[in-house]
Amino acid sequence: MNITKKKDIFSKIAFSNNSGLFSKIKSSFGDRVIDILIHLPKDILKKNLLEEINISNIDQLITIDLKVEKHIKNFNRRLPYKIVCKNKLDQQINLLFFNIYQSFITKKFENNKIFRVTGKLSFFSNFYQIAHPISAYGQNSFSDFEEIEPIYNLDRTGINKKTFRKLIIKNLDFFKKQDFPDEWILKEFFDKKWSTFKESILKLHLPNKKHNSNILEVTRKRLAFDEILSSFLIFKNIKSQTSKKNFFTVNDNLLSKKIINELDFNLTKDQKICLKEILNDLKGYKKMYRLLQGDVGSGKTIVALLSIADVINSGYQSVIMAPTELLANQHYEYFNKYLSSHNIRIAILTGNTKDKEDIYKKVENAEINLLIGTHSVYNKSLKFKNLGLIVIDEQHKFGVKQRVNLLEKSLDSHTLVMSATPIPRSLSFVMYGEVSISNIKTKPEGRKKVVTSIISNSRFSELLAGIKRKLSKNEQVFWILPYIGDEVEQNTYETVLSRFNFLNKKFKNITTLVHSKMSKEEIEKNMNDFKRKKKMIMVATTVIEVGINIPGASLMIIESADRFGLAQLHQLRGRISRNKLTSHCVLIHNFNLSKTSRNRLLILKNSDDGFEIAEKDLLLRGTGDILGTNQTGLPNWKFFEPLHDYELIELVKKNCEILLKDFSSNKKKINFLINVFFKDKNLKNYLSA
Ligand code: ADP
Ligand code: MG
Repeated sequence: MNITKKKDIFSKIAFSNNSGLFSKIKSSFGDRVIDILIHLPKDILKKNLLEEINISNIDQLITIDLKVEKHIKNFNRRLPYKIVCKNKLDQQINLLFFNIYQSFITKKFENNKIFRVTGKLSFFSNFYQIAHPISAYGQNSFSDFEEIEPIYNLDRTGINKKTFRKLIIKNLDFFKKQDFPDEWILKEFFDKKWSTFKESILKLHLPNKKHNSNILEVTRKRLAFDEILSSFLIFKNIKSQTSKKNFFTVNDNLLSKKIINELDFNLTKDQKICLKEILNDLKGYKKMYRLLQGDVGSGKTIVALLSIADVINSGYQSVIMAPTELLANQHYEYFNKYLSSHNIRIAILTGNTKDKEDIYKKVENAEINLLIGTHSVYNKSLKFKNLGLIVIDEQHKFGVKQRVNLLEKSLDSHTLVMSATPIPRSLSFVMYGEVSISNIKTKPEGRKKVVTSIISNSRFSELLAGIKRKLSKNEQVFWILPYIGDEVEQNTYETVLSRFNFLNKKFKNITTLVHSKMSKEEIEKNMNDFKRKKKMIMVATTVIEVGINIPGASLMIIESADRFGLAQLHQLRGRISRNKLTSHCVLIHNFNLSKTSRNRLLILKNSDDGFEIAEKDLLLRGTGDILGTNQTGLPNWKFFEPLHDYELIELVKKNCEILLKDFSSNKKKINFLINVFFKDKNLKNYLSA
C-alpha cells in the first residue's frame, strides 16, 4: 500500500532554502500552502502601462518605460533631486525626489539605463513629472512587473513585498491544479455575484483588467461566509463532544461570602447579579460556558475571583489565562491579596517561569489550587488533577483558533471568559458558539470621569506645560502612539522611538518606553519601573492597552489618535480611570482631520460608556472596531468583517445546520472547510453533532 500522502493545499509550503523567510511566513501566516493564500490583499493597484502620455493622464497613476538622461542635483536641500528621463517617443518626464538619501538614487538610476516607472503623473512648469515613484523596475526585472497587482498588508511581518508576491504566485500555480469539494454554500444563500471557493482565491491574487473595482469586496464576502461557516462547524463539534460529560458541582458559597465580607468595598448591583448567574451555573448539572462582559474598570476580576474561591473550596482546581505577562503578574498579585489568607495555593506560569517542571508537577498532584498564566498554560505537558473552572481574561485579544484550542482542552471543566468589548448577541455566536452572557453595566461608585480633550498637534507647548503640572504633583503620564519607529511611516509620523527620545531629553531620565518589539524581559522591567514610580513618563504602543493598573497615572496623551479604533481608545483611556485622582486624556490629531474622524473623537470625549461608544461609532461609520480588530495589528479574522457581514450570520447558521443534518454525505466539504481555517482538527466526533 502506498502511504505517502499526496501533496495538497494543506501541505507545507516548499521553500528553496530560505529559512529566515520560512520562519517569518510561518509565524505570520502558517506554514501550509493554503495559509498564505487566504491572506486578503488590502487593495488592487492598476498601474496603467502607457507608451505615450498626454494631459489627460495628469493626476493618474501611470507606468511608463523611461530612459535616464541626466541627474540634476540640488544643493539647496529644500529643492528636489531631479532625474531627467525620456520615453520611447522622446517625451520628457522628470523624476523627483524630496529629502532622500541621494547616493542610493544616483546609483540606482544610472544614465542611459531603462526603467519601468510607476507613479502619479503631474505637470509642473511645462514638464511632466513623477514625484517619488512607487516602483521602478530595471530592465532585467521587467518580467516581475504586473500591471494589475494586489497589494498585501505585511506590516509587522518583516516580509518583503516582492518576495511575498513571488511566493503567492508560485503557490497559486499549484493551487490551480487541485481538486476541491463541490460547493457547500446552498443555492438559496449563494449570492449571484460570487464564484466558487477556488475561483475566489484565484481572483484575490490574480485580478485582471476585466474585474471591476469592487471585485475584492465581493470575493471577500464569499470567503467570509466560508470563514464563519467553518467556525460554526467547529463550535458545534466541540459542543457535541462536551454535552455528554459529567460536571462537578459547587457545594456551597461559604468562601465567596466570607471574602465579600472582608472586601473594603461593596459589590455593585451588576457584580452581584453576575456572580449569582455564575454560581448558579456551577451548581447545576450543565457545563458552564459563560461570557462576562463589562467595560474597563467595571470590576470583572473580583467576580471571577469569588467564583474561583468557591470552586476551589469545593475541592477543584482553577486556571486563569491572561493575554500578556504583565496582566498575568497583576492578577497574581490581586488574587494573592484576597485568597492567600484562605489557604489557597496560587502559582504563576508564563514564558519566563524558570522551573516549569516543578509547577507542572505541583499542578498535577493538586498542590497548586489556582494557576495564573499566559498562553503557557496551554502547554501539553501541563495536566491538572481536577480542573473545575477555566477563566480567560480580556477575551477579545485571542483569536477564534485559540478559543477553540482552549475549549478542546477544557472538555470536562466550566469556562468563564471575560471581555471589555461588548458585542451584539448574534456576533457572539460567531466568536464563541453558544455562550451565555452576563453583563456588568454599572461602574463602582466614586469613579471619576476622565476629562478628555481633543487638540491638534500645533498646541504642543501647552501639552508640555500640562505634563509639568502633573509631574509636580508626583502624578504619572502615559504617552501612546500607533507606530513603533522602524516602519514605513517613520518619516511622516512621530513614533514611539522618536517621541521617547524627545521626551527623555526634555524630562531627563524619568521617561521609559514599552512596545511590542521589545523582549518580554525589557517590557516587564520598564513596566515595573513605571509601576514603582522610578520613571514618571511611559511612552508606549497599545501593548499597554489591556487591563494594566497604574494607580499613579493621571494623564494619558494619545498621539495620532485618529489612527486608532474608538473601542481601543476607550480601552486605553480606561487605564487612567481607576484611581481617585482627576485624570485627563488628551487626544492629539494631525492638522487635516476629516469631519468624520473629528466626530468620532467627539464621541469619545462626550461618553465614557463602552457600549454607547461602540454603538455610536457604528452609526457614524457604518462600521466599527468593537471587536478590537485594531488598525495597527493583524486582525483575528481573515475575511470576516463583523460589522459589514452582519447579515451573513443568520444565513451561515442555517447553512451549517443543513450541512450537519446529512453529515456523512457532507463530510468531505466539512472537513475541507475546517482544515482551511482551523488546520487539522480531529473531527471524529462529528457524527454525534
Ligand atoms: P476590569 O473589569 O476592567 O477588569 P478590574 O476588575 O481590574 O476591572 O477592577 C478595577 C479596580 O476596581 C480593581 O482595583 C478592583 O479591585 C476595583 N473594584 C472592583 N469592584 C469594585 C467595587 N464594587 N467598588 C470599588 N472598587 C471595585
Ligand atoms: Mg480586567
